[in-house]
Amino acid sequence: MQNVAVLGATGSIGDSTLDVIAAHPDRFAVHTLSAHRNAAKITQLAQQFRPQHVVITDPATWQTVSAALAGSGCEVHQGPEALNQVVQQVDVDLVVAGIVGNAGMASVLAAVQAGKTLLLANKEAIVAAGHLVMQAAAASGARIIPLDSEHNAIYQCLDRQYVTGTRPDDVKSITLTASGGPFLQRHADTFKDITPAEAVAHPKWDMGAKISVDSATLMNKGLEVIEAHWLFHMPSNDIDVVVHPQSIIHSMVNFIDGSVLAQMGCPDMRIPIAHGLGLGQRLTNGADFLDLIQHQQLTFEAADTNKFPCLKLAKEAIQLGGTAPAILNAANEVTVAAFLAGRIRFDQIPVFNDKILNMTAVKPVESLAHLQALDQAVRQRTETAINETNNNL
Ligand code: NDP
Ligand code: MG
Repeated sequence: MQNVAVLGATGSIGDSTLDVIAAHPDRFAVHTLSAHRNAAKITQLAQQFRPQHVVITDPATWQTVSAALAGSGCEVHQGPEALNQVVQQVDVDLVVAGIVGNAGMASVLAAVQAGKTLLLANKEAIVAAGHLVMQAAAASGARIIPLDSEHNAIYQCLDRQYVTGTRPDDVKSITLTASGGPFLQRHADTFKDITPAEAVAHPKWDMGAKISVDSATLMNKGLEVIEAHWLFHMPSNDIDVVVHPQSIIHSMVNFIDGSVLAQMGCPDMRIPIAHGLGLGQRLTNGADFLDLIQHQQLTFEAADTNKFPCLKLAKEAIQLGGTAPAILNAANEVTVAAFLAGRIRFDQIPVFNDKILNMTAVKPVESLAHLQALDQAVRQRTETAINETNNNL
């Protein structure tokens, strides 16, 4: 029996994770569920899964949820600090990091410092704090199993050769596949007219709003290049990106002998999540089985970084090193939120991200506190840049 802490239980990753867990009650017990603002959903999930602990990071939501769960037998904790404490408890075996954005960074680090097995979806955490997370994993012996479909595909292709944060000697390079998002065929001249509703309507994957916009700008693939850089200990030159609109091949490993291993499957996050939860054993999970006759054509093309400059920015951030990925990530969280709120246009997302990355001094990463202070400063700077631009219109 594995005790699982599911952080970000109310989100899309939370849904898929709890779906797999519910299908294997003999194998998993839910130790903790976390949520931020969705009081109704976390209350329902707590009643269904009966965790020992619920963590609510938003104070007002905590009041509602603790009242709703009074007498249920589950402890309802408040605030981000509680996440860090709960994931370190002795009886937690697996931590599913499904919080979106930098808000998940401290709890990811806390889980790794405590030597837990981390099932990582929260890519922003490793993008911003990759250096600290990998150092902590080396010190504690924590395993990190990626749930992001591309990284999970690579993890599966490397099989037992993979040791967290290292690159096997016989790997030449890796190829991350990208669906290309909803605007692959759309002319860049019309990007200024893209609405939030169009941007979150991903053709292949059903995901939260932030990652859906990231997929539309290809920032998601950029963040994934940085994620792969840390997880598989690779320079950006050894990480290729190829656009594969059908999303059937989830990524590939190119070995030194010319062999290429790819992992395939229907685009359904329950597949990588079940793989992570299974710790080496395959688990049924409700996803459809792949029918290649139905798909027939698998196509591949180069990513157009002129049309989607965010991908280029991510490689630039890896090369700059130090705090550069954290700066890019913080700027992007603000620009995506501003786009979703109708404050900037879609085509301004890469422009602001570029501007903030290039106007912020890059330094070596010192500590979590350093990264958190930097995150706040970059958010403020990005807000100011957006407000100045809007005031000048
Ligand atoms: P969602 O927006 O669907 O869910 C986000 C979750 O994070 C919710 O549980 C939300 O709580 C919680 N949350 C939001 N803000 C905060 C905060 N400030 N503090 C604590 N918790 C917070 O996102 P996804 O599930 O789509 O994505 C989660 C992560 O997984 C992202 O990093 C994404 O890039 C990554 N990922 C997602 C994939 C997918 O298929 N969805 C695929 C690969 C990676 P509440 O709803 O209660 O407010
Ligand atoms: Mg992905």
